[in-house]
Amino acid sequence: MSNLPNPFISPSGKKPNCMEMLQLILDGQATADQSEYFKTHMDHCMPCFKSYQLDMSIKELLRTKCCGGDAPSELVNKIKSQIAQNI
Ligand SMILES: [Zn+2]
Repeated sequence: MSNLPNPFISPSGKKPNCMEMLQLILDGQATADQSEYFKTHMDHCMPCFKSYQLDMSIKELLRTKCCGGDAPSELVNKIKSQIAQNI
């Protein structure tokens, strides 16, 4: 474990949970420091790792199959459950 300060901690001192960190990363809102910290975090946090992989797979699928257009959420959910079974 590193003893780097967690760059996700807000100025108010609130420590974010996994979901909040993941959301920032997946939304592309994270800073370089946060991305770096999260990569290390994923190495020993299986739920984060799986969620991250899942989201990346979906984005990749949508990009190749749907020409970058908006996919109906029904389709996204279908793909998600299919991928979840394969992890
Ligand atoms: Zn985590």
